[in-house]
Amino acid sequence: MAQADIALIGLAVMGQNLILNMNDHGFVVCAYNRTVSKVHDFLKNEAKGTKVIGAESLQEMVSKLKTPRRIILLVKAGQAVDDFIDKLVPLLESGDIIIDGGNSEYRDTTRRCKSLKEKGLLFVGSGVSGGEEGARYGPSLMPGGHKEAWPHIKDIFQSIAAKVGTGEPCCDWVGDEGAGHFVKMVHNGIEYGDMQLICEAYHLMKDVLGMDHDEMAKAFDQWNKTELDSFLIEITANILKYKDSDGTHLLPKIRDSAGQKGTGKWTAISALEYGVPVTLIGEAVFARCLSALKEERVVASKSLTGPQGAKFTGDKTQFLEDIRKALYASKIISYAQGFMLLRQAAKEFGWSLNYGGIALMWRGGCIIRSVFLGKIKEAFDRDPELQNLLLDSFFSKAVQDCQESWRRVVSTGVQLGIPMPSFTTALSFYDGYRHAMLPANLLQAQRDYFGAHTYELLSKPGHFIHTNWTGHG
Ligand code: NAP
Repeated sequence: MAQADIALIGLAVMGQNLILNMNDHGFVVCAYNRTVSKVHDFLKNEAKGTKVIGAESLQEMVSKLKTPRRIILLVKAGQAVDDFIDKLVPLLESGDIIIDGGNSEYRDTTRRCKSLKEKGLLFVGSGVSGGEEGARYGPSLMPGGHKEAWPHIKDIFQSIAAKVGTGEPCCDWVGDEGAGHFVKMVHNGIEYGDMQLICEAYHLMKDVLGMDHDEMAKAFDQWNKTELDSFLIEITANILKYKDSDGTHLLPKIRDSAGQKGTGKWTAISALEYGVPVTLIGEAVFARCLSALKEERVVASKSLTGPQGAKFTGDKTQFLEDIRKALYASKIISYAQGFMLLRQAAKEFGWSLNYGGIALMWRGGCIIRSVFLGKIKEAFDRDPELQNLLLDSFFSKAVQDCQESWRRVVSTGVQLGIPMPSFTTALSFYDGYRHAMLPANLLQAQRDYFGAHTYELLSKPGHFIHTNWTGHG
């Protein structure tokens, strides 16, 4: 008998939590998993006493669903998604909806959209962010794909999503094809950038100002009451305070070698592919790669020297505030770059993206949640066609206010030999973006000199000419 509002396949951590979240909001969910024993375990344990039902086969699961059938996949991204789709197609009817909530690559989602449309089925690729906790109590959800599916899933999605302000859900329709997964990918890239910026601030506090863990924790706690108010600043303060069982701080004992799953890398690759200068996320990915060369760095540290005997001699309180402002300005650059990439992808694929809506989707429920995203939403409310966040009055003023501090931090850090790839690339981007004239005139001349690639004159745009640079007169 059809009794379930929706089915969810994939009973690992994300799937289980999302089911319990849907159950809390009054939806009857049918649970299924490749390893069927996990369905029984889930019903007996985590889902005990709920309205969640289970199925031992895909046929049984489909038979228990109200129409149009709605099925969420929360399985390992890649082949597992295609395998489940192939098995589901013969069991479904025209108008039924398959939703992939995993971390799928956006091009895979576009491909699946096309192939399922031919079969009369609706497909949605939805970014789900916020990890286990988000899935359970309110994730950020970024659905895209066949828009005809949206009226049938909107109620469920917006009910279970995180809420901000006066109850606005961190979930709205993103756009066609793989737009939802593209936006999720950029979100993950921005997360890389935010984390790296905080790490650089920590490095400067520790090695330039010589602050101890309690002082640094206090600074981050204070910063969390400013424009930087965000989940990542909050957890950084908590991490700095955390003491091991022996009563000493845990953080300095952790190996300084970062891992990655690949979504930051995908963002950087897309940026290169579409020619968008998303430099900060790129540097954040490379910073993790450099950190992973631990053994090599240990060897290099014994022979490569930095500035000899250089010490910070300035006003420590002032410099701490400078670091905060450098972080804020660099963060603005990172988001400006992320939205540039979204804008270019929208152009590339013909997606109509609601940028303010995207900022609101990230405002709560996910790792990059922050008060700052509310300001981005306001900027796009002021001008939905805003070319670049830096051109918005609020953000241009914010960068202007931080500029002096930002430059002081970068120059001091460079003088003292502290690596700050994200702070420095953000400032270089800002300086490049605000220059009407860059030295690329010389670059064009060089290209024309050795490869006859031609160039345009400022006075005659669109008219390409070649010069015989070694000839006379
Ligand atoms: P996961 O470890 O990525 O995947 C485990 C689930 O996938 C299990 O249900 C497993 O079934 C199924 N599975 C794996 N290989 C399969 C195959 N070849 N055929 C059929 N089923 C297969 O689980 P997760 O961490 O809960 O994540 C689920 C999805 O959400 C992933 O795409 C992940 O990237 C994404 N995501 C995760 C997080 C997070 O914080 N964990 C956050 C956002 C998004 P069996 O039990 O039978 O092995």
